[in-house]
Amino acid sequence: MLSLHGAGIGKGIAIGRAYILKRSDIDIPQYSVQDIEVENEVTRFLGAINATHGQLLEIESHIPSDAPPESKSFIEAYLLMLKDPLISDQPVETIRTEKCNAEWALQRHSELLVARFDEMQDEYLREKKNDVRQITSRIQHNLLDIPQQGITEVAGQLEDKVIISHELSPADTVQFKNHNIIAFVTDLGGPISHTAILARSLNIPAVVGLHGATRYVQHDETIVVDGKRGTIVINPDEGVLDKYRARKRFVSQRKKELSELKDNLPVTKDGADVTLLANVELPEDIQAAHQWNAQGVGLYRTEYLFMNRPEPPSEQEQYAAYSEVIRLMRSPVTIRTLDLGADKQVDGGRSEAPTNPALGLRAVRLCLHEPGLFRPQLRAILRTSALGPIQIMIPMVSSLNELDQVLDMIEETKEELRHDGEVFDEKVPVGGMVEVPAAAIAADFFAHRLDFLSIGTNDLIQYTLAIDRIDDAVNYLYDPLHPSVLRLIKLTIDAGTRAGIPVTMCGEMAGDARYTKLLLGLGLRIFSMDSTSLLEVKKKVLESDLRILPGKVEEIMQCPDSNTIRDMVVALEDL
Ligand code: PEP
Ligand code: MG
Repeated sequence: MLSLHGAGIGKGIAIGRAYILKRSDIDIPQYSVQDIEVENEVTRFLGAINATHGQLLEIESHIPSDAPPESKSFIEAYLLMLKDPLISDQPVETIRTEKCNAEWALQRHSELLVARFDEMQDEYLREKKNDVRQITSRIQHNLLDIPQQGITEVAGQLEDKVIISHELSPADTVQFKNHNIIAFVTDLGGPISHTAILARSLNIPAVVGLHGATRYVQHDETIVVDGKRGTIVINPDEGVLDKYRARKRFVSQRKKELSELKDNLPVTKDGADVTLLANVELPEDIQAAHQWNAQGVGLYRTEYLFMNRPEPPSEQEQYAAYSEVIRLMRSPVTIRTLDLGADKQVDGGRSEAPTNPALGLRAVRLCLHEPGLFRPQLRAILRTSALGPIQIMIPMVSSLNELDQVLDMIEETKEELRHDGEVFDEKVPVGGMVEVPAAAIAADFFAHRLDFLSIGTNDLIQYTLAIDRIDDAVNYLYDPLHPSVLRLIKLTIDAGTRAGIPVTMCGEMAGDARYTKLLLGLGLRIFSMDSTSLLEVKKKVLESDLRILPGKVEEIMQCPDSNTIRDMVVALEDL
């Protein structure tokens, strides 16, 4: 029995068998082959091409017939790529002329093809380089006889398993939504990374940043994952198992008690109305939003629609997905425009990354840089506005100039739609996320140009405290109660209130019931969170009294250090 500690996510306990998911990149060997071996090497290469072809057809055959046509398109793109002479013919020539091994010959030609796509002006064609990388990696796995460990390849084996992996990207993790895994554990990663946020929405416990997980856990061993404490126990003895089973029962009992609050309206003791909204990633998350009685969607992270596929979804496909969310939700939905970049890469983050992705072309910056990506999304969202109440939310705005460009683009898109005879809500509200200190400090200026503000504390904390969300080495510095963070939150709430526009919070802090009273005392009235946190936060709202809280929170705001602030926030519970 061995117990290890990392950063815990979710409050539950999972007990199950480990599944080791190996995602590490492979080293490409380089060596010469003797004259007599050259034709064998060619045969080995052609065999790997054939095997890859067969595997792709196999994956294609498992795509359900009712899946959108786009689901098949990535396989078709790979099959086509497999026929490209630079991939399938020229390595053969190189093996023969240079007498080198197949892996090396393939790698050289693949890099040439990547470079060729990379030079293309057209963004769509430039992105084809990711297909080349994917297909090359598949052939290399076959040449080296290393099994592919994409989620799709091992899907059938994941049911009821605890996934152990060195690292998981959000693009990987979102695929777990279909596979009933019971927990995951990673060597790397931070508690507010998008991978961690997905664990919350999967309603499973997880532990990230647990160095040594892949070293110490063996396939099929029994593992306990304690999301609240950030602990895993490998091969627990019966006594320990009993203890965890009891805690599991306690957690379910508490959930049951909370579920009694489902139909209560979120109103404070003194009668102030509070709004509790859901964060969703995919249309299927709406079910959970209804299950816990969310009053609407405060954050729809549309970027998940763009992941795990070679091409962005068409306007029509986006329209279909957004319409589905509106139709299922039947109450207001805030659709956030694309927030790709940083840890949310379309291909799972394994292609070459910029030096500082979190500070690079991310979110609205990427959208303004790639109008070919942004315009179809704006068209799709605006068209959806004809179907029900929606709001458009722009992530990561940092300057008014940038915001004006987006607002102009929205106006141009509306003009285009009018011209095309499409219907949409002329008055669709447009809001901005306050996620960068620059936006919080100048929130009053932003508030005058926008219909609402939404505080994204995950990024606001990352950028204020200069800690990368996904770098577990600096997890310990993540602190929602840092006085600077609290001041920026207050500045934003006050600016919105003065401008007469609503202010929402949709970062993880909004769903953490430890902070509900503090945030209410700061003046926040609209909270958006993962659906599984709604009832816990509601309970705190029902216990809050706004005749007392603002004064107490004012005292907290005078306090310079987080530890004392933490004690004072805990003391709010007794009021
Ligand atoms: C945030 O930054 O707080 C937020 C809600 O956006 P995301 O977590 O998707 O970056
Ligand atoms: Mg964010």
